[in-house]
Amino acid sequence: CGIVAYVGHREACPIIIKGLKRLEYRGYDSAGIALMTHELSVYKKKGKVSELEAFIKNLPINSNIGIGHTRWATHGEPNDVNAHPHYSSNKELAIIHNGIIENYASLKTELESRGHVFLSETDSEVFIHLIEDVKQNNDCSLDEAVRLALSMVVGAYAIVVMSNNDKEMLIAARKGSPLVIGIGKKEFFLASDASPIIEYTNDVVYLNDYEIAIINKGELTIKNINAVTQTPYIQTLDLELDQIEK
Ligand code: GLU
Repeated sequence: CGIVAYVGHREACPIIIKGLKRLEYRGYDSAGIALMTHELSVYKKKGKVSELEAFIKNLPINSNIGIGHTRWATHGEPNDVNAHPHYSSNKELAIIHNGIIENYASLKTELESRGHVFLSETDSEVFIHLIEDVKQNNDCSLDEAVRLALSMVVGAYAIVVMSNNDKEMLIAARKGSPLVIGIGKKEFFLASDASPIIEYTNDVVYLNDYEIAIINKGELTIKNINAVTQTPYIQTLDLELDQIEK
């Protein structure tokens, strides 16, 4: 039910954990994080963000990029495996997802028939296998695969995708679930609302439905579902951090 992601020059993990705690009010049953250690690594736990924090405390998880999630289960019971992020089959991609994929069952059957093996009972895991499948079949870039996959999905989503092949890239999209992009100096923050971001920057872009944000090597590009590049509308928040903490 909450999304926080970061790419830039700072340590991603503390920013994400702190941000997830700010989103605790939205309610959740489990939490997880993906970071770029020597490879794309996923850590997840049923329960509170503080339990995830304790779980990863002594691990070598230095990373300047990461995606974090608090889950409010809709498909599949709350447990460690069903928590997000979810991997693609080849473990090159990881996704966090808020929302519901209504046609996940038919997509899952189709993907299973093509050899995809699912680890969780969630609708969300279908999303990342679909992106992987589309990417392999069309031999296209990841943002193009995300765009094509979105057109096959029925439901509501805010997603962020991370790739082992592009270690300075995050791809995000939304339809029906909120997603805010905070723009710093050569660093970007993504979150379900501005509360995890405001401490670092006041410059934000609210992603619109059917838009895809591609953040790569310090640059933000926004495209719509028809692959037309959009001019980001940057708003300056006048919200102060102490207003959020009260
Ligand atoms: N439908 C997804 C799940 O059950 C995401 C739920 C959420 O928004 O946290 O895993």
